[in-house]
Amino acid sequence: MDYDVVVVGAGPNGLTAAGYLAKLGLKVAVLEQYVETGGGLVTQEICGFKLNHHATYMLLGELMPPFKELELERWGVKFIRPENQIAFLFKDKKSLVFYTDIEKTKEQIAKFSHSDSENFLKMFKEFEQMFYDFLLPATYYPPVEVITQTEKLQNSDELGKKIAEISEMTPVEILDHYNIKDKRIRGALLYIISMFGLEPDESIGFLVPIYVVRVLNSAIVKGGSHHLASSLRRVVESSGGHVITSSKVKKFLIKDESCYGVELENGTQIKSKVVVSTLNPEQNFAELMEQYNGGIFDDLKDIAQRWEWERFSLFIAHRGISGKPPAYFDDEASKSLNVVMGYESDDDIMEHIKACEQGKLVVKGHGSCLSLFDPLVVPNHVSFAEHHLLRWECWAPYKEWTFQEKKDFAQKCFDFWCEYSPSLAESNVIVEIAWSPKDIQDQTLTMKKGSIKHGAYTSLQMGYNRPSPECSSTRTPIKNLYLGGASVHPGGMVILGPGYISAKTIAEDLGVEWKFGELEMIEKAKKRGYL
Ligand SMILES: Cc1cc2nc3c(=O)[nH]c(=O)nc-3n(C[C@H](O)[C@H](O)[C@H](O)COP(=O)(O)OP(=O)(O)OC[C@H]3O[C@@H](n4cnc5c(N)ncnc54)[C@H](O)[C@@H]3O)c2cc1C
Repeated sequence: MDYDVVVVGAGPNGLTAAGYLAKLGLKVAVLEQYVETGGGLVTQEICGFKLNHHATYMLLGELMPPFKELELERWGVKFIRPENQIAFLFKDKKSLVFYTDIEKTKEQIAKFSHSDSENFLKMFKEFEQMFYDFLLPATYYPPVEVITQTEKLQNSDELGKKIAEISEMTPVEILDHYNIKDKRIRGALLYIISMFGLEPDESIGFLVPIYVVRVLNSAIVKGGSHHLASSLRRVVESSGGHVITSSKVKKFLIKDESCYGVELENGTQIKSKVVVSTLNPEQNFAELMEQYNGGIFDDLKDIAQRWEWERFSLFIAHRGISGKPPAYFDDEASKSLNVVMGYESDDDIMEHIKACEQGKLVVKGHGSCLSLFDPLVVPNHVSFAEHHLLRWECWAPYKEWTFQEKKDFAQKCFDFWCEYSPSLAESNVIVEIAWSPKDIQDQTLTMKKGSIKHGAYTSLQMGYNRPSPECSSTRTPIKNLYLGGASVHPGGMVILGPGYISAKTIAEDLGVEWKFGELEMIEKAKKRGYL
């Protein structure tokens, strides 16, 4: 078959791009190497327990434009956002709970330091303004060249100047800037900023407000993360698009520096007016262009060669149990979405990350009992016994993991968790699966070295530089080849920005009317001179 658009990869971004373009009336196919769609939105159901191996915490949720424009709620997407977001448990049995209600959080911080509680509130309120007025709109707008962007912010208003001021700071410097002093508060905030792989000593300050504001407003997808992917798939298919699974793309078809389709591993060629790839730069510019050499192709291969992966990945261990949910020494912690154990200071955070870089395993991290918030993820309907789904997540190195190593490390993590919630040790384990950085890579291929976001967030790999100045608008130097995955601006996580921007850019280039209208938040940011 010939198509208008072929999308490579049925992760959140590929399905988003396909959903928009199919709704515009274009003939669209999404090609996915795996047997199921979803990419990072994978949920595996075993004995009625629904295990999210990758993305679980949705930071933007209903704020993502596709939620409304693709009518995802109509297709059954519901976000559950617990009020008690993240609790930190300390050795002396003190606890610190962060709530969606920031005044309640301030009271919690005041238990440790009055001045930090005041400074946190000031910081959070400024971060909220930065997020809503600039960072959120910029997530759904092509990146502006770095110097121009800085000048725009500096020449705008007070808020713009503040964003420019923190933009090149590291997360640690930002905590200093806002005078956060208590070791435990600093440790907790650094954990929140870095839990999805942001590096505490990297100059990517503009991302800090996003992570602080949104990690503290995290939601889960009712019924498991994959439900978001299956709803996006329904949008594509109900608009006439094709979603073709078990179809690995092996190469881009290119003639005279113009892309006219793809070839699958089995030799099938699929032709299209444009191709949008959601793969990583090594796949896009080295593997899928392997046979093309010289000039432009060598420049693109350079991008692949220079690409840096994250310094640490995540280890996930799931347990489906029959028994009681975790109960900690503080009831407010027991009601929290995530409970962090093992860190007493910012130094502990830095040491854990350093240990990962040296290939060492550290038993510290956070546990979550997802069934407390979403009964659909456990098989309670089939028996009278109480079931719960436990999810342990911690930073871990990418290396070869043997089955036994995974099993032993998962056991250590659960033993550690039981030290904080002794009743957990009495539960019966029905399902147990550990998921290492190596599994992350092997399942999706895009997430090389257990990468959470298709590549590190460094100043040289973000915004206008992601994955390179000539490709960050989603257009590439190869005519009709576009990028739409986490390795292009605005980057990784389930935010659907790359998928949205690539669809809008393709519609513009094909001369198809964008019937969804312009986003009001972008118009406002432009009026204020930010974009
Ligand atoms: C352990 C872990 C935990 C995470 N937790 C969170 C979280 O809580 N919240 C959050 O927002 N984000 C989280 N993320 C990040 C998030 O999952 C990713 O950033 C996001 O999935 C990227 O979306 P994407 O569509 O760009 O790419 P992907 O989700 O990687 O999708 C790409 C798709 O392309 C397919 N593919 C690969 N090669 C080929 C090929 N040659 N041919 C055809 N298809 C191919 C893959 O199978 C995959 O389906 C997590 C990631 C990991 C690894």
